[in-house]
Amino acid sequence: MKKVVKFGGSSLANARQFKKVGEIIRADKSRKYVIPSAPGKRNGKDTKVTDLLYQCYDAASTGASYKKILNQIKERYDDIIDGLKLNLNLDHEFATIEENFVKGIGRDYAASRGEYLNGIVMAEYLGFPFIDAAEVIFFDEEGNFLAKETNEELSERLKTVDTAVIPGFYGSVYHNGMVRTFSRGGSDITGSIVARAIHADLYENWTDVSGFLVADPRIVENPAVIETITYKELRELAYMGASVLHEDAIFPVRSEGIPINIRNTNKPEDKGTLIVESTCRKPRFLVTGIAGKKGFCVVNIEKAMMNSEIGFGRKVLAVFEKYGISFEHMPSGVDTMSIVLHQSEFEDYEQSVVAGIHRAVSPDSVELESDLALIAVVGRGMKANRGIAGRLFAALGHARVNVKMIDQGSSELNIIVGVKNEDFETAIRAIYDIFINTEV
Ligand code: ADP
Ligand code: ASP
Ligand code: MG
Repeated sequence: MKKVVKFGGSSLANARQFKKVGEIIRADKSRKYVIPSAPGKRNGKDTKVTDLLYQCYDAASTGASYKKILNQIKERYDDIIDGLKLNLNLDHEFATIEENFVKGIGRDYAASRGEYLNGIVMAEYLGFPFIDAAEVIFFDEEGNFLAKETNEELSERLKTVDTAVIPGFYGSVYHNGMVRTFSRGGSDITGSIVARAIHADLYENWTDVSGFLVADPRIVENPAVIETITYKELRELAYMGASVLHEDAIFPVRSEGIPINIRNTNKPEDKGTLIVESTCRKPRFLVTGIAGKKGFCVVNIEKAMMNSEIGFGRKVLAVFEKYGISFEHMPSGVDTMSIVLHQSEFEDYEQSVVAGIHRAVSPDSVELESDLALIAVVGRGMKANRGIAGRLFAALGHARVNVKMIDQGSSELNIIVGVKNEDFETAIRAIYDIFINTEV
């Protein structure tokens, strides 16, 4: 039995948390490969080391004063090292980091040092070998992850050790060595890549909640824990903002059918959530999870008889393509077509796009609506059940939330509703109430 264990920032925020992690690892001999994140927040007002590193680098590389922040970062590690009574000194590492920052080596390198240093501390604490992720995880020049090259190198390298600490979040450009990171929260992806490379039996992802919750705990008070969820459901939820697990962390393990277990470092006795390819287990509720994001806008295009105009959709989408804008959803009616987009990607081009649509398809009208939030209601149990959309709308109507858009994925795994940004939280609570609270 071989397990890969990834610990998030809050699980490694200070020496006390490190000790919990040490106990978890020592409690199970199969926990052989450890992926640490950088030290996260110790309390609500604290700053993650990763954010401090970005700040420090931005200052150092532009000639502004940076020493105070660099010392603050060093103190975070020194506190951990002292608290764990380790015989370890990072002065030399910090000197190299400072030199590189001043040289302007790159923001990715800067951010990656959080994981790199925490990996060194973790390896010393556990007595496991340290493997620098830059030597085994690869990207191309554009920063795209290279799955094949990584898997070959990593699996060879891990054959030589029985245990290891491999820092999360970063790797390097293939045959070039320049450090690159994944997007924020990317240590989850590293864990998944390592699990694939060693053909792990399980990928444990340790965080500060007892599993994947039906809704964001910052919005719904004390939400229920999802016991089992499929990769597909989770991907929908992660993509729509349920930030527990990085949305790209699914792919590497999925190709090997390795389950992921989300666990709570502060409550190791809880079973957490099991993420699997498929399951016969009936979901506890009709709806597996609810997640959402703010900051969308919709382009509503109207034209009588558009449905019979061959090539209409293609011509409209070509306009967005021309400006390099990707779209999220595209619900349509007989005479209407709506394109849902990220507002931040669209804002700079909005007038050019509207003009382009006029030229391309001569619509009756093009209207823009901004400041929308999208909410995904996801569940494998929804397929076989009628009346879900009806209940959803009744609940939202009752909560006085105006539904701006609705789109049901063709897999019948999800329903997406669009509401005003300011109704976002109310809508999520209303959906939670109708599908979860009324069923327990
Ligand atoms: P880590 O630092 O361990 O990687 P993250 O902050 O990335 O942890 O993810 C865990 C956090 O995700 C939780 O503390 C919680 O606030 C948030 N979260 C958002 N949606 C959900 C959800 N549906 N279930 C559980 N946690 C969620
Ligand atoms: N430390 C990185 C971040 O804050 C990566 C991670 O936590 O997974 O985004
Ligand atoms: Mg995370």
